[in-house]
Amino acid sequence: MKIAVYPGSFDPVSNGHLDIIRRAAKIFDKLYVVVSINKKKSSTFTNEEKVWMLKEVTKDLDNVVVEASQDLLLNYAQSKEACAIIRGLRNFIDYQDEITLFQFNRSIAPNIDTFILFPSANNLFLSSSSIKELVSFN
Ligand code: ADP
Repeated sequence: MKIAVYPGSFDPVSNGHLDIIRRAAKIFDKLYVVVSINKKKSSTFTNEEKVWMLKEVTKDLDNVVVEASQDLLLNYAQSKEACAIIRGLRNFIDYQDEITLFQFNRSIAPNIDTFILFPSANNLFLSSSSIKELVSFN
């Protein structure tokens, strides 16, 4: 059974995240979507709210489990026997962050691979922060 973990802030979940979740859920037998702490970002929503929103938008996907975790991502992934970490890529800025994260993760846990997935074109420019900015102006 191929198990993957898709971590993120999901503050809140966007169609871009959902795009990646749907693609990953087709490839892997089981996908854990995990709301994790990003110390570089302050959060608008609580973990409970983020998990609730993610569960709502993924309820048609039988092989997707949504959880929050305070644990180090690699410890969480190992506890789930995951062989892969899923990340989404929109642009070169994401690339720089993702390659740093990937190298760090691989140096600690070489048995867990990172899979980068691209969203469809209409989700390429979507971010949680731009959604929040739009909402703040009604
Ligand atoms: P983090 O705080 O860990 O960057 P995010 O919630 O911002 O978490 O995003 C989680 C993952 O989803 C990251 O790999 C990010 O690049 C990716 N992602 C975010 N928005 C999109 C999008 N519109 N299309 C594809 N991937 C995305």
